[in-house]
Amino acid sequence: MPGDCIVPGCTRQAAQRKGGLCELHAWRRQHGIPDEQPVQDRLPPFARVVESCIQLSDVDSEDDAAWHLAIERLKKSLQRWWIKELAPPAVVAADPREEADKEVGR
Ligand SMILES: [Zn+2]
Repeated sequence: MPGDCIVPGCTRQAAQRKGGLCELHAWRRQHGIPDEQPVQDRLPPFARVVESCIQLSDVDSEDDAAWHLAIERLKKSLQRWWIKELAPPAVVAADPREEADKEVGR
């Protein structure tokens, strides 16, 4: 029976035939993503927005790179929330204002 993932601090269950890694860390190694990157549990889109806001408020005010990263993370989470919960694609595509905006180049 497989135990926990071999990556320190990871409590996920090791997957079969992944060399003691969980599915997430096996995927990360396959795609060249460092093990140390914090594991983001799948959160509902709005919970991700809230988390992004908290991360932004926690950023060191002297660290421009971290601030920009946090801003981008927040934008992405808002975009995802919008797409997943607020604007079904069929509604957006059928919105006549979208076409009007394109015509006047807004
Ligand atoms: Zn793991």
